[in-house]
Amino acid sequence: MTSRNNIPSQRLLVIGGGSAGIGVIASIRKRIKNLSITLIEPRQQHFYQPAWTLVGGGLFDIEKTHRPMQQVIPKDVTWVKDSVIQVSPSEQFVETASGERISYDYLIVACGLMLRWDKIAGLEETLGRNGVTSNYHFDLASYTWELVKNLKQGKVIFCQPPMPIKCAGAPQKALYLSCDYWQQQERLNNINVDFCLAGQAVFGVPEFVPHLKAYLAKYRAKINYGYNLIRVDGEQKLATFAVINKDNEMDEIVIPFDMLHVVPPQAPPIFIANSELGDENGWCDVDKFTLQHKRWPTIFSLGDCCSTPNSKTIAAARKQVVVVAENLVNILYQKELNSHYDGYGSCPLTVERGKVVLAEFGYDNKLLPTFPLDLTRPSRIAWWLKAWFLPHFYWSGMLRGIEWLAKSKVHSK
Ligand SMILES: Cc1cc2nc3c(=O)[nH]c(=O)nc-3n(C[C@H](O)[C@H](O)[C@H](O)COP(=O)(O)OP(=O)(O)OC[C@H]3O[C@@H](n4cnc5c(N)ncnc54)[C@H](O)[C@@H]3O)c2cc1C
Repeated sequence: MTSRNNIPSQRLLVIGGGSAGIGVIASIRKRIKNLSITLIEPRQQHFYQPAWTLVGGGLFDIEKTHRPMQQVIPKDVTWVKDSVIQVSPSEQFVETASGERISYDYLIVACGLMLRWDKIAGLEETLGRNGVTSNYHFDLASYTWELVKNLKQGKVIFCQPPMPIKCAGAPQKALYLSCDYWQQQERLNNINVDFCLAGQAVFGVPEFVPHLKAYLAKYRAKINYGYNLIRVDGEQKLATFAVINKDNEMDEIVIPFDMLHVVPPQAPPIFIANSELGDENGWCDVDKFTLQHKRWPTIFSLGDCCSTPNSKTIAAARKQVVVVAENLVNILYQKELNSHYDGYGSCPLTVERGKVVLAEFGYDNKLLPTFPLDLTRPSRIAWWLKAWFLPHFYWSGMLRGIEWLAKSKVHSK
């Protein structure tokens, strides 16, 4: 095996200490020892967000979904507790909110996406009160469970904004786990559930849709396609949706609720577009296979902020981490970037307590099952993966550079 220590010392800068940022640093450290690595990350806490769905269903302890950032940052990494506000790719430095300029030889952009709660009028004023909640927020997932547990009857709305969003299945996972509980408690007959989604399909990959629709029917949830939440009046408990009518005009439809589960619209961090790094929609513009920036070869990007057309999940980041680490080694050795990402992402749809439909797919919706089992059907083993194995593996595997089942595709010309 070639020694990694003969690479001339270089400065690597990583923006974002979330799942993708910490994961990629751990995988790079494993391969290259003498790289000087700086992480820019403003938060004191690191979150494992997939478990918030389970917290909202009363099935996971919220305190097990976060750890101090310092604890998850690999050794010998300089942590700058600040936010990047601008990148200058031509001069190879970034500027932070506190006015510091930090130069780099290589840059990895892994800053996640922005949750735009502010895009829904009246929402921020009422979140966490008046029956308005969201599993997309650490502070609110427990409130979801409180509402679910206490609701005996009434009207409940689960919303899904326009794509792309992180974990496209999470809005409906909240619905399934809530309905399953109400059914077990024999309350579902007194509760009317609406699933209001901005799009026209329950799920983007057709193979999974029949199973999901069967569950929506089992829970007697009414599906409202093309309903985009634009306003919430928490005091009056009214949700307003923009809906395109038959004449192709925009109507507003107001629905009263007792409980409202909101998923906010999502967007790339603004500094990406302002730094000439964005594609036409503002996502960090990388080659979808090598994850190298299309215009700036010393920059890579992965995780929710990058432009690759995959499902934005930790499952995707887990594979992207390996590709970026390998291609960084390739570039340092002036070799071809032959490590390729196949678009893998996965979404464990928690359709009932103890059962998951495990959607695993790559580019062009190609099914990419990890195991030789038909996981398009609800299964107990997939539940075990989601609720037990993956949270454990996240903290002690992915964040420490263990790359089980994350092998990249090596592609030679
Ligand atoms: C409710 C819910 C359920 C989910 N379920 C699943 C699931 O079942 N399976 C799955 O695989 N995935 C799931 N996900 C998605 C998954 O959590 C994300 O896709 C994943 O965390 C993305 O990692 P990331 O590093 O790109 O972003 P994040 O983990 O969000 O981290 C981004 C980091 O960048 C930092 N940052 C932001 N801006 C700047 C800046 N300007 N300068 C410096 N740092 C910055 C942030 O502080 C943050 O720490 C779920 C997410 C949610 C919310």
